[in-house]
Amino acid sequence: TKALLKDPTLVKTGSYINGEWHQSDVTFDVINPYDQSLLVSVSEVSKDNDMSLVNSAIGAAKKAQAEWQSKTAYERYDLMMAWFDLMQKHKDDLAIIMTLEQGKPLKESLGEVEYGASYVRWFAEEGKRIYGDTIPALAPNQTITVIKQPVGVVAAITPWNFPNSMLARKIAPAIAAGNTIVARPTELTPLSALVLAELAERAGVPKGVINIVVGSNAKEIGEVLTTHDDVDKFSFTGSTNVGKQLMKQCASTVKKVSFELGGNAPFIVFDDADIDAAVEGAIKAKFRNAGQTCVCVNRILVHSAVHDEFVEKFIEQTKLLDVGNGLDDVDIGPLIHKQAADSVRELVASAIEQGATQSYGQILSDTMQSPIVLTNVNNEMEIAQNEIFGPVAAIQKFETEKQAVQLANDTPFGLASYFYSQNISRVERVSRALKYGIVGVNEGLISNAAAPFGGVKQSGFGREGSLYGLDDYLNIKYICTTY
Ligand code: ADP
Repeated sequence: TKALLKDPTLVKTGSYINGEWHQSDVTFDVINPYDQSLLVSVSEVSKDNDMSLVNSAIGAAKKAQAEWQSKTAYERYDLMMAWFDLMQKHKDDLAIIMTLEQGKPLKESLGEVEYGASYVRWFAEEGKRIYGDTIPALAPNQTITVIKQPVGVVAAITPWNFPNSMLARKIAPAIAAGNTIVARPTELTPLSALVLAELAERAGVPKGVINIVVGSNAKEIGEVLTTHDDVDKFSFTGSTNVGKQLMKQCASTVKKVSFELGGNAPFIVFDDADIDAAVEGAIKAKFRNAGQTCVCVNRILVHSAVHDEFVEKFIEQTKLLDVGNGLDDVDIGPLIHKQAADSVRELVASAIEQGATQSYGQILSDTMQSPIVLTNVNNEMEIAQNEIFGPVAAIQKFETEKQAVQLANDTPFGLASYFYSQNISRVERVSRALKYGIVGVNEGLISNAAAPFGGVKQSGFGREGSLYGLDDYLNIKYICTTY
C-alpha cells in the first residue's frame, strides 16, 4: 500500500482521539475489493465491547468545544483553509488510498478528494456568514434578537461509497459552525477517513476538535454515539433501515438529527429530449462508482417514441466502458465486496424471472461486473423498488408525462431524480411535480458543495452543502430584552 504513495506516513491505522493516535493488538483487516488482498490491519477502538475509548473521544470533543467556539470565525477559517490546502497538496496520495480500499477508478477517487475538499473550503467561507436577525418587538422598550450558536458535540456515522466526501461534508460544517465532532467511518474504508484527521492535525486544528473512531463493531459504537448524553447532534449517511434504527436510538436523549438515506432515482427521457445528451447523462449518473451511489440512477423511464433509439445508443456507450482494477485507467472498478455483488446479481436474476430482458453485461469475478442493461422492466419488479447499488441499468417504457411522473414518484424514497426534455413548460411542470429533494434537468451530475444535497420521504432530512447546510449544525436562540 505504502509503496505507491509519495508520503507513506499518510496511512494511519488507529483511531484519532484528542489529538492522539491509538494502537492496540486487536485489529480488523482492510481489504482491497479488486483482488481481496489485505491492505493493512487497523486497531479496533474497542475490545470485548469496552467502549471507554469511544466515551473518551466524546469527552475530548466536549472539552475542546468551548474553546473552539470562542475562536473567531476568521481563526476557524484560517485553520480550515490550511486543512483544505493540505488536501489539495496530497490529493494524489489520498486518491490512491481511496482506490485501494474502495475500488473506484483513480480518476473518480481524485474527483472525490477534490469534491470533499470543496466542502471544507465552502464551509470555511460560510462560517464567516452565520448571521442573526432582529425582529420588531411588541413593546417600544423591547428588542427581539435572534442569534445562531453551535449545537455543541456532533457525532457522525458514514458509509464506504464516498469514504472521503461523506465525512468531509459533515466535519466541515460542524467545525465551521463552532462544534466539535466524533465520527465513525465504516470499517470497510477507514484509511480515507483517518488521513483527513492526519491532515487536520498537520493544519493545526486543535486536539479534540476532530476525533475519528474506527472499529468493526458498528452497532455497539453506534449505540454510544446515538445515546450519549454529551452528544448534541447526530448525523448519518447510510441505508434507510439502519437510519431508522439510529433515529430511534437518538430519541432517548432528543438529539438534533440529520439523515441522508437510500434513494431510488428515476431518470426520465421524454420524447422531446436531446437523446444523445440523455444517453451521456444516463451513463454518468448510472455507472459512476460502479452504480454504488445514493443518487445513482435506479430506474430509467423512456417515452415509447424514443425508447428504441435511446436503448440502442445507451448500449453502444455502455460497451465503451472499461471494467477493471481502479488503479488502471478504467471506468468501472469492483463492487465493494462479494455480498454486494451477489445481491446485485440476485436483483438481476429476479428481474429476468419477472420478464425483463438482459441486453448486455456479464459477471467477471466475485466483485467485478461488466455493466448490465435490462429492458422490459416494470415498476413492480423488485429491481425497480430496491436500490440496486451496482452497474445495472433497468429500463422501462412509458406513454405520457402524467404516467412518467406517477411512476417516478411511486417509491417510498425521494433523494435524487433526473429528467431530459427540451420543452420549457414541461421542465417547469415536471421539476415541481417530482417528489424528490434533488432534480437534475438535462444534467446527470448534480453534486456540488454550493448546492443543498438531501432527500424527502424515506430518503431522510437535513441538507448538506450550501448556505442551508450550516443550519443543521446550529441552534437558533431568541433573546428578548426589555430596556
Ligand atoms: P451501506 O449500505 O452504505 O453499507 P449501512 O447503513 O449498512 O449502509 O452502513 C452505513 C454506516 O452505518 C456504516 O458506517 C456502517 O458500518 C454503519 N452501521 C451499520 N449498521 C449499524 C448499526 N446497527 N448501528 C450503527 N451503525 C451501523
